[in-house]
Amino acid sequence: MQEEQGTLVMEAYLSSIEAEFSLSKQKLKELTNLFQEELENGLKRSDAILKALPTFVFNLPKGTEIGKFLTVDLGGTNLRIGLVELLGSGQFTIKKDSKVIPDGLKSGSGKEIFKFIAQNIETFLEHPEIEAELPLKLGFTFSFPVQQESLAHGTILGWSKEIEGKDVIGMDAVALLQESLHSLGLDIAVEALVNDTVGTLLAQIYRDDRTRMSVILGTGSNAAYVERCSQIPKLKGKFNNGRTVINIEWGSFGDGCSCTILPSTRFDRILDLESKNANYQRYEKMMSGMYLGEIFRLILVEAVNKEILITSSDLISKPYGIKTKDMSKFHAEFINENIENCKMIIKGKFGINIRSDAEVQMLSKLCEIISLRSCYLCAVGITAVHRHLLSWLSKEKIFSVALDGALYQKYPNYSKILQDLVCEMDMDGGAADACRVVLVMAEDLSSIGAAAAIAAQQFK
Ligand code: ADP
Ligand code: MG
Repeated sequence: MQEEQGTLVMEAYLSSIEAEFSLSKQKLKELTNLFQEELENGLKRSDAILKALPTFVFNLPKGTEIGKFLTVDLGGTNLRIGLVELLGSGQFTIKKDSKVIPDGLKSGSGKEIFKFIAQNIETFLEHPEIEAELPLKLGFTFSFPVQQESLAHGTILGWSKEIEGKDVIGMDAVALLQESLHSLGLDIAVEALVNDTVGTLLAQIYRDDRTRMSVILGTGSNAAYVERCSQIPKLKGKFNNGRTVINIEWGSFGDGCSCTILPSTRFDRILDLESKNANYQRYEKMMSGMYLGEIFRLILVEAVNKEILITSSDLISKPYGIKTKDMSKFHAEFINENIENCKMIIKGKFGINIRSDAEVQMLSKLCEIISLRSCYLCAVGITAVHRHLLSWLSKEKIFSVALDGALYQKYPNYSKILQDLVCEMDMDGGAADACRVVLVMAEDLSSIGAAAAIAAQQFK
């Protein structure tokens, strides 16, 4: 009897959470229209909500470029260093190393982050076969908002993904890295600065020239796409012919507006208020790897407070104490019906004391609700960009989008659900009889794109 009652309370709670997180067709349409509007505002004005940053990549790779380049990719979680060889015909090789960015560094000075990068490059060059390639040109993938004035110059506008680094805001990311390299006596010239989305886009264009857009779903989330210079009024006609890449910086969609456009729940509001950049990047905070685990944790805290779940651990009282990675592993185990493994993760990683299989099911349903909303919101952004480009692309058959980031790659069923959603939304808008949006996995390619950016200038 008592157990039955407990199940009823749990089901009622789940239904209320599901209702809060679900998005109606009407809401999706509104969000998509607004996204397109905000993107078009961003192309006009530099003070718009979506920054829509021109990247000064005017020569898109053809796939025929060749050469060896050093690459560095600073994400929100990992630092990746590589030696890329472009082989022509869309092929390449990469030798790479990866290091987790220490938490202490994230909350410290920005200059220290650049020093850390240079020191890791120095270590990478200790491999004799790599050192033998010096001097090298370096392509820098920097996944934070920068205002570019040229391919090898970009003013840091601010950080995201819980990195502080206030001392370098307003400074040139290329110069900061170049100085750190010089101070270690390394013969390396930083020749291109690209965002990870831009890098992923350029790399996938190098492999397949039908690629039009890229999306990252990793620690953070962002997207880039190929735009006509004539459609970017804020360039003031300076580069009227040809195409370039726009870094949307889409994580800020829905920021700065007093009306509640984004479908934020009370959990999103708490997460935002307690984050290092409250009121900013609210779309990203509802969607990306850094935050899904935290949304999950906030729901668990509430469920424990309501005595729907019980805990004897302080794991869930610690902000960011639950990682999206563990949520994803748990969800995968549940889908594979490995209930014993589920229970181990719940105890060890979520700190919840499980009393029944119904509770395991409840937790997996919460994971599904949170990850599904992330998919929907991402589909909104992709659909809006596709719509914006429709008149230009009408003769083309497919709109190929390169996707990367651990959330997209690894969260169970994420990639399939997202593909289905973008197709549904594409067709629903009356855009075509058949779905034209094709999502392509572009795993760990952003460094290749940084190399291709340098090569495409040389081979233009
Ligand atoms: P970066 O953003 O530094 O480029 P990644 O693309 O590897 O790095 O993304 C890291 C983010 O992805 C982290 O927030 C992490 O929680 C999340 N993540 C890592 N592994 C998984 C996984 N198996 N499933 C879902 N998310 C994951
Ligand atoms: Mg990345």
